[in-house]
Amino acid sequence: MENKKTAILVVDMLNDFVTGALQCDRGLAIVPNVQRLLRGARETGVTVVFCNDSHLKGIDHEFKIWGEHAVRGTYGAQVIDELELCDKDYVVDKRRYSGFFHTDLDLLLTELGIDTVIMTGLHAHMCVRHTTADAYQLGYNVIVASDATDSFTEEDYVAGIKYLKEVYGARIATVDQLVEEFRG
Ligand code: ZN
Repeated sequence: MENKKTAILVVDMLNDFVTGALQCDRGLAIVPNVQRLLRGARETGVTVVFCNDSHLKGIDHEFKIWGEHAVRGTYGAQVIDELELCDKDYVVDKRRYSGFFHTDLDLLLTELGIDTVIMTGLHAHMCVRHTTADAYQLGYNVIVASDATDSFTEEDYVAGIKYLKEVYGARIATVDQLVEEFRG
């Protein structure tokens, strides 16, 4: 892993996903780990990209399943304050599970010279999984920060990680391992 060619994809760490409409206590519990991962990345030249749900009010397909959440322009659609979104970070708005679906994420990563993505955020078995699927299919190496992603339940989390490992060949690593690797 080369820092310059690596990007962290932070999936849906938004107010609605942590404490709002789709509140997730397990999501709240990983916040310190995500903070540590992002701090380590920002200090060592690893790119940080936020992949954020940004739904159109009243329209988006997903509302049929999940109800309204992360509506563009609302507090619920903002990155949680704890992650201190900064000017050096990139933000990609998405309207579906995958951060790549009808967004310019692939173009952005290509222009940045990224070949490896580190997955973090919510949920391990849904948006993280769909984003990982596209990353894999587009030819990126995928690493999953196992203690900086989660799901509503332990069962979903365990199944989610297993699937990422088996189906996309994702390497599973902890935040401590990754930050140590960033520092070389
Ligand atoms: Zn959504």
